[in-house]
Amino acid sequence: MKNIVIVGGGLAGLFTAYALIKNCTHPENIIIIDRENEVGGLLNSFDYGINGKFDHGAHFFQESGNVDLDRLFKSILPSQEWIYFENYKRDLAGTYFNGKLQTDTQYINLKNLSETDFQVALTCFFDNFNKNAGKIASLTTDSAYEYLNICFGKHITSKYIAPGLEKTFGRDLADLSLQALSLLPTNRISLFDEEAAADILDTNLLKKLIAYPEQRNLPSNKSTNKKSFYPSKFGLDSFVKSLENTLLKAGVKILTNTKVCEIITEKNIITNLVVEQDQKQFKLQIDHIVWTVPMFSFASLLKVASHDLKIDRPQKTVLINLLLDEKPAMKDLYYFYCHEPDFFTYRVTNFSNYCSNALVQNKYPLTVELLLNPIEKFDFDVLKEKVLQEIISFGILNNIKSIPFLKIEPLASGFPMPTVKNVNSMNTLRSRVLEKGFKNILFTGTMAEKDLFYQNDVLIDAFTKANQLLEKL
Ligand SMILES: Cc1cc2nc3c(=O)[nH]c(=O)nc-3n(C[C@H](O)[C@H](O)[C@H](O)COP(=O)(O)OP(=O)(O)OC[C@H]3O[C@@H](n4cnc5c(N)ncnc54)[C@H](O)[C@@H]3O)c2cc1C
Repeated sequence: MKNIVIVGGGLAGLFTAYALIKNCTHPENIIIIDRENEVGGLLNSFDYGINGKFDHGAHFFQESGNVDLDRLFKSILPSQEWIYFENYKRDLAGTYFNGKLQTDTQYINLKNLSETDFQVALTCFFDNFNKNAGKIASLTTDSAYEYLNICFGKHITSKYIAPGLEKTFGRDLADLSLQALSLLPTNRISLFDEEAAADILDTNLLKKLIAYPEQRNLPSNKSTNKKSFYPSKFGLDSFVKSLENTLLKAGVKILTNTKVCEIITEKNIITNLVVEQDQKQFKLQIDHIVWTVPMFSFASLLKVASHDLKIDRPQKTVLINLLLDEKPAMKDLYYFYCHEPDFFTYRVTNFSNYCSNALVQNKYPLTVELLLNPIEKFDFDVLKEKVLQEIISFGILNNIKSIPFLKIEPLASGFPMPTVKNVNSMNTLRSRVLEKGFKNILFTGTMAEKDLFYQNDVLIDAFTKANQLLEKL
């Protein structure tokens, strides 16, 4: 068995190692390297002792439909340590739009407009659909602006969809890529009552644009039968610990506080990594490498040209973790998004709605995720006051006095900026790196492939790459 080095100990790196140890004979030859002092990446939790734990927002898992992958992933914890969610309970998301918290759908519901505005929007939608049905059917674009204008027309796009996207990402709609429409769900709108929407579910084109107005009533034959699941014990850090312990027990070496300083190659084979831990450098001889961290760092170590590639910096992600004395008035929603142009809030997660033991001495943990301009300096006290006002405006809490605990956590890394420029730069970088033709490296993890971001897609990709590697061993 050959030496395998996995760079990055987030979900992608840990799950790749797990898939490998289940099927290879020498797990002790696997080394995971992470630059932080603990593995887990975004799956870690903040642990405030008596004030409980908070995940980095809503992270739960979904079945992929690949039986082998799902079985393997679930085997990380004993079966009784998972809770499963079926049908509409798989994912319950809402949206704050036009001054109202919608709990019925995560997409903006134009039925919440005034009667006159709704009638105008309805007419514009059908005028546009009549004109553009052919284009919608064959639409392939990376541009959010083009997608929205072709699918919904100028009126709905500029008046109701663009403001939320532009405030969330701090960019003009014209700059944004399609990925923005999944990070703030805007690739559909809700426009009809249930009866009409149910009929639309049987169409080809309209069903791609129109959201069902009440997620809890979506006919079961139109929804997926894949379950979602989360550990029964709240806090993904415990899940990460279990996985880490299983890997260590199998003999995998995990080097934290370690970074790659140099990559040594011979022709198109990577032979060694020079890594640094506690200010000491040493060499790792390798036969295979799995790179799960940003490709730009690989490119710069190997001097793959990237200086000409323009990158838009991501927004700064700041999490506000709070405990509430009263149950947040957001029905059974796990989380909701915020479209309000003047609000800092991107998303609010109510953990106890999907994991009841998230409650801390009968207090409700809530995380408000903010996406902020990376160059602006924010005074945390001002930020805190603003977010508390926003929480009151959402109507989920009556009284600011019922917040016994609050902590502000700026994250070191955040959502990639979903701009067309970034999509193009990443595509170019990927092809330049692959053109080098290194035979013994695989790339997985966030953005290793086009549109690879959400954790379920990351798991599918990591599983595929682990299997490709196993075939070579
Ligand atoms: C703010 C935020 C919220 C998200 N929310 C959701 C969500 O609600 N649902 C969902 O499905 N997905 C969500 N995602 C995406 C999801 O988190 C990722 O798909 C998943 O965590 C990716 O795992 P990963 O291993 O690729 O990256 P990460 O979890 O980022 O892990 C990368 C690891 O590599 C280490 N590392 C980084 N650079 C180096 C280096 N040069 N050398 C060594 N180690 C390094 C880091 O310390 C880290 O441990 C979110 C992402 C972000 C940024």
